[in-house]
Amino acid sequence: MTTTTPTLAHPAAGEGILASTLAQFHAAADTINLSDRYRAYLTSWKTVFQTQFPVQMDDGSIKIFEGYRVLHDTARGPTKGGIRYSPHVTLDDVRALAMLMTWKCAVVNIPFGGAKGGVIVDPTKLSQQELQNLTRRFTTELEPIIGPDKDIPAPDMGTNAQTMAWMMDTYSMSRGYTIPGVVTGKPVSLGGSAGRNEATGRGIYFLLQEHLQAQGGVAGKTVSVQGFGNVGSVAARLIHEAGAKVLYLSDVRSALYNPNGIDVTAAYSHVGQGGDLRKWAEASDAAQIVEAEDVLTADVDILVPAAVESVLTANNAGQVRARLIIEGANGPTTAEADQIFEDRGIVVIPDILANAGGVTVSYFEWVQARQYLQWTEARVNEELQRLLTTAYRDIATRAAKVGPGCSMREAANIIGIERVVEALELRGYYP
Ligand code: NAD
Repeated sequence: MTTTTPTLAHPAAGEGILASTLAQFHAAADTINLSDRYRAYLTSWKTVFQTQFPVQMDDGSIKIFEGYRVLHDTARGPTKGGIRYSPHVTLDDVRALAMLMTWKCAVVNIPFGGAKGGVIVDPTKLSQQELQNLTRRFTTELEPIIGPDKDIPAPDMGTNAQTMAWMMDTYSMSRGYTIPGVVTGKPVSLGGSAGRNEATGRGIYFLLQEHLQAQGGVAGKTVSVQGFGNVGSVAARLIHEAGAKVLYLSDVRSALYNPNGIDVTAAYSHVGQGGDLRKWAEASDAAQIVEAEDVLTADVDILVPAAVESVLTANNAGQVRARLIIEGANGPTTAEADQIFEDRGIVVIPDILANAGGVTVSYFEWVQARQYLQWTEARVNEELQRLLTTAYRDIATRAAKVGPGCSMREAANIIGIERVVEALELRGYYP
């Protein structure tokens, strides 16, 4: 058992994600000869909201926080996207992530445009009361923008079902009645959907099974997963339980390796009860501690980056040994790394498909909230699999139609852009 302390620095704020998102957009736009008119339209943002707001802290002091909400496009419906609490949030990142949400919603063919939000805060440094104060004040600042027919936030990094419950309550109190459709990712007892919490990780699992169908699915494959939060932990557990060997696993504090496969079910249960991944590995001798970078360059069949953006760059893409990457995180691959993967024949299942399970079940939650209905988890999972499998096949067909050199990312972007352009053309310009 080594005791090396891995360095898990966050990529430099803003590094790459807006530039990569725009580069990927233009590559797809070039392939379909998108007119300059639509290029300009789709590389502009409908609303960019920035606020600095006060929050009362437990010691009675007032602290000022900065938050953003960016709506990219509304052609296909109200906007949808997560709210992130992180010290690394930047406006450029939020703009990029809002644009990615537009393509993602279009790719899985749900009637939403894209949005994203964030507050510059380290939520682990705040008490529950301070987090509640911050969330309620930020929600109040957002009131002119959000609403069940306008813009519907959801959890993202650093936020969870409790955050959404506070947002829903704050918005509802200002209106005088309960409006469950204003956010998704709520606790099930407050109108949240069965299966929402696991949806993104489960979507990754469904897509891997579809992609590897001819090889019998994930069973027997070796896997490395970066990030053990909402997305990474569920994806890793389902992949492990389907018979794959998860050799590497990491969170922000530690990276684990077990050549025989990590018992992800046990790790999931330990972390789910508030335990620490590293302490679990050390106490149970379940894995050795390795360097953070080893998780990305691991000698495995499948790599699942499911933590933060811009972790696969020109600096490490040449060392990646997995032949298949499925992007659990948003924007984990820079444009330069993407090109290197393409040149090396490494297949990337892109974020706008790979992690679309979350927004898909958010859509189901919104539908249920508006009808005051509750679907069973079995129905949610079945519908999720149907929409994701359809999206996967649409993309595979499109990539084949465009021809050699068309990556799944390019095909997904093409489908997303075309569906938004179709809506824009049908709606026309007003006035
Ligand atoms: P989370 O906060 O639940 O978990 C993030 C995990 O990543 C944690 O285990 C954290 O310790 C780890 N981490 C953070 N920085 C790291 C680093 N530098 N190296 C290794 N691990 C690191 O967040 P989440 O909801 O799982 O989201 C992860 C990614 O997936 C984000 O990019 C998010 O935008 C994206 N995403 C989330 C959802 C969703 O439904 N939650 C949906 C779509 C996309």
